[in-house]
Amino acid sequence: MSWRDTLPKVRGRLLADEPLAPFTWFRVGGPAELLFLPQDEDDLADFLRGLDPAVPVTVLGVGSNTLVRDGGVEGVVIRLAGRSFGKIEPRGDNRIYAGAAALDAMVAREAGKAGIAGLEFYRGVPGSIGGAAMMNAGCYGAETKDVLVEAYAVTRAGERKTFSNAEMGFSYRKSAKAAAGGLIFTGALFEGTPDDPAAVEARMAEITARRETTQPIREKTGGSTFKNPPGHSSWKLVDEAGWRGKPFGGAMFSPLHANFLINTGEATAADLEGLGEAVRADVKAKTGIELEWEIKRIGRP
Ligand SMILES: Cc1cc2nc3c(=O)[nH]c(=O)nc-3n(C[C@H](O)[C@H](O)[C@H](O)COP(=O)(O)OP(=O)(O)OC[C@H]3O[C@@H](n4cnc5c(N)ncnc54)[C@H](O)[C@@H]3O)c2cc1C
Repeated sequence: MSWRDTLPKVRGRLLADEPLAPFTWFRVGGPAELLFLPQDEDDLADFLRGLDPAVPVTVLGVGSNTLVRDGGVEGVVIRLAGRSFGKIEPRGDNRIYAGAAALDAMVAREAGKAGIAGLEFYRGVPGSIGGAAMMNAGCYGAETKDVLVEAYAVTRAGERKTFSNAEMGFSYRKSAKAAAGGLIFTGALFEGTPDDPAAVEARMAEITARRETTQPIREKTGGSTFKNPPGHSSWKLVDEAGWRGKPFGGAMFSPLHANFLINTGEATAADLEGLGEAVRADVKAKTGIELEWEIKRIGRP
């Protein structure tokens, strides 16, 4: 008997061997052994409490920074979606709550409407709040760390936890708390400063316009492929090593932004990861600099 035959009862959906490619921006990769779409936080916590502790659990947001490998993902993949996890709610005193499945851009917009400034940068990040908490998402000089008051999570054992900003251990594109593993963020509370909604909206429009011209936002991509090494820009290192716009199977580093890996049509996850690794090796050989993946790669080759 397999662990899939003795699953806890849920109110959400459990889907066996569900393809994950449609849930990612790259549109590649194999299936989840089991995909769980919980209905709400209680459903998530109950399921985790009842699930065999030996079964690996992986969380997926909206897949804008994740490469699912071709062999699929072992164990349970949890994807938060729906009304409960997508809630966005101003809470007074320049604070706003957002569920983990809420899109960063929607949170920016709702904060603006409520006259809260400081979250405009989220207009430029195409991920979810869960992904933002996990990796301290940010752009144009602002990041999650600057506006997050506390984050709410459920542990692998099904226990509810609240973490203050300090406890999240934020640094460049990282939360030390999240990186330690075993947490599923269910939402977060943010705080900004008071401002005129029209002024906030104008700043968001600037961010949108800037994105359109500098990033391949309509491509099948994963955002920044590599973290910027201290004192260097990854796009420059990729470009100077000669990889901008050079095809590799169905993969390529974007001619528009050399740190954006793109699926040009028929890429496999192996093409995309293979190109990334080829570039890392080449940059290391030419400059001695070690590029670190920012894109999360999950599953079996
Ligand atoms: C065109 C484009 C532009 C981008 N520009 C930026 C940018 O300017 N700045 C920036 O920071 N990023 C940028 N990104 C990357 C991406 O949008 C962010 O990393 C975002 O925070 C990822 O969120 P997600 O929901 O897509 O996460 P996913 O890609 O689904 O997951 C990313 C990681 O977060 C974890 N995770 C997701 N949800 C949860 C949860 N609820 N609980 C626990 N862990 C979770 C996953 O396990 C995984 O490790 C860009 C991406 C694209 C495609």
